[in-house]
Amino acid sequence: MSASGLVPTTSGNVSGRTPEGDILITPSGLPYDDLEPEDLVLVNVEGKVLEGALQPSSEVPMHTGLYRAKPGIGGVVHTHAPYSTALACLGLEIPPVHYLLAALSEEGRVPLAGYATYGTEELAGYASEALGDAHSVCLLQNHGTIAVGETADKAYSLTEILEEMAEIYFRTRLAGEPVILSSERIAEARAKISSYGQSKG
Ligand SMILES: [Zn+2]
Repeated sequence: MSASGLVPTTSGNVSGRTPEGDILITPSGLPYDDLEPEDLVLVNVEGKVLEGALQPSSEVPMHTGLYRAKPGIGGVVHTHAPYSTALACLGLEIPPVHYLLAALSEEGRVPLAGYATYGTEELAGYASEALGDAHSVCLLQNHGTIAVGETADKAYSLTEILEEMAEIYFRTRLAGEPVILSSERIAEARAKISSYGQSKG
């Protein structure tokens, strides 16, 4: 995550749901490059620390709030990725400006969740409202990004696509008026993307 430039300094955090239904989350304020597996903190879905020597991320309530609101998700990634965060600070959502947005959303757009103080349940509420059932990523106004997926890995790759899309939209807006894809075009791209990809055994 550090190498990708998605998480300047110690900002951002990652969590995953365990088979038992608890949450493993990155610790607060530790550079990612120094992280060891045993530094992760185990909390329950109410945010109570169950195991770990370090303080959990200050965004625990945002993560646990999302897991409670969305029983189907297994991973959450939060970043202050630069282009996404720039758009969030402009109070903009990302419209269907590129077909790859169909990988992130049924509607091919990235919604914007309203502002609330970091690390609050209120912020989890705004984020899960913005995500609804149609979107797997959203922007947090004046703050950063949220991605949810079946696993933390999946949420991370969605974050990479989100930042790529944010950069394209940001640059396009600087250069002129973006052409917006119709919902039919987005649906076609989404159908194609869902059958794309291969795995090695
Ligand atoms: Zn943050």
